[in-house]
Amino acid sequence: MSDLARLPKVDRVLDCPVLRELPWAAGLKKRAVTRHLARLRGAIQRGEDIEVPDAAGVAEAAAATLDGWTQPRPRRVINATGVLLHTNLGRAPLGEAAVAAMVGAAGTCDLEIDLGTGARGSRFSVLAPFASALLGAEDVHVVNNGAAALLLACTALASDRGVAISRGQMVEIGDGFRVAEMAAAGGVRLCEVGSTNRTHLRDYEQALRAEGEGAGASALLWVHSSNFDQSGFVKGVDLGELSRVARAAGVPLIADLGSGSLGGGLPEREPTIREYLDRGADVVTCSGDKLLGGPQVGLMAGDATIIERCRRHPMARALRPDKTTLAALHATLIEHSRPDGPRLPLHAMVSATVDDLRTRARAMAIELGWSEDRVRETSATIGGGSLPGETIPSLGLRVTDEKPNRAARELRLAAVPVIGRVVDGELVLDLRTIAPEDDGAVTDALRRAGFGA
Ligand SMILES: *Cc1c(COP(=O)(O)O)cnc(C)c1O
Repeated sequence: MSDLARLPKVDRVLDCPVLRELPWAAGLKKRAVTRHLARLRGAIQRGEDIEVPDAAGVAEAAAATLDGWTQPRPRRVINATGVLLHTNLGRAPLGEAAVAAMVGAAGTCDLEIDLGTGARGSRFSVLAPFASALLGAEDVHVVNNGAAALLLACTALASDRGVAISRGQMVEIGDGFRVAEMAAAGGVRLCEVGSTNRTHLRDYEQALRAEGEGAGASALLWVHSSNFDQSGFVKGVDLGELSRVARAAGVPLIADLGSGSLGGGLPEREPTIREYLDRGADVVTCSGDKLLGGPQVGLMAGDATIIERCRRHPMARALRPDKTTLAALHATLIEHSRPDGPRLPLHAMVSATVDDLRTRARAMAIELGWSEDRVRETSATIGGGSLPGETIPSLGLRVTDEKPNRAARELRLAAVPVIGRVVDGELVLDLRTIAPEDDGAVTDALRRAGFGA
């Protein structure tokens, strides 16, 4: 009998006790089984020399797969990459209050009810006081993420006509997503103006005319080039000047800030929402998680009439955040309202001194029986497209320069996965992005992977 013919049948595998005992739906079990059988079939067809398992053997493997599929995901990992807002690792770690708020709102909650009158309320009303106090805007609307804020602003404000954007600001933000395409995804036409390196005011004025090439815009979009720098024969348009063009034409000016900052903090920092509004933007959109170090949300800030127009647009309903997200956002805004600054993990990461990091790194090295020269200087970055080229001095632990990628994998597969970074051919764990309370989990993972005494 050929190896292919010896592969057990799906039903026989599903009938094995290890799988029958599992509580999961038949379809899920079947999928795990067919996946293993397909792998075995592939290996046999490629002529690999494999031992063909019996039904119980395949059932055993499928049960292990099902175990993996039914563990809670996404699961906690330790960010030792030195990239503070790492999009693949869930960007900002939430503060304690935000986590508690999410749990508190998880059941039935007063999301859209006024407890005093029993009348229908708005899920967004709790955020209003923070708009002016924290963001410097008359009103703020919240959607699922920065991309949604941009999409809603362009769709609601440019209506069925076009939005003008400079070719010099057609930024790609990651994973192949482009700001201009997201802005137009709601059916708004893009009126590209200028060239890659040079855009003039008259280019926008041309776009605002009713006729001619690239004409017909009914809103202007200004995008902060957050993740790249241009130099040489370059000319862009100042936001303030652009706002005069928008005023004169009576069209709204949308500014996508990307990350932004709340002012203070880093010496070299991203602009604030207030600065963009002062320079004449009618609505500023940004990624709330990048700005605040809180849950994934998109913020739209501006004057009350324009924000209300966005809030009432049918698309707003499709982009609205859920109760747990709003609860976490509210708790995060409260943190930012403390006179002595927010007590958030992101802010602790930014403000730790190199001396703080050295103390921790040395203690970890001692714990592992490592010599002190395995503590090395590194450069951390904010990430999330903020401050390109800007780094924060940091310290890391040099794990190994022998097969560093293999070592990195081993640490990723630890009980609590640790995600490091390969720098100059060695695997390094950056202390700046590791929460101090996780130092023990990191040394544990290192020891178990055979890197410590
Ligand atoms: C990050 C970013 C976005 C998208 O924000 P998300 O919250 O990731 O959806 C849009 N524009 C710019 C300039 C950005 O940096």
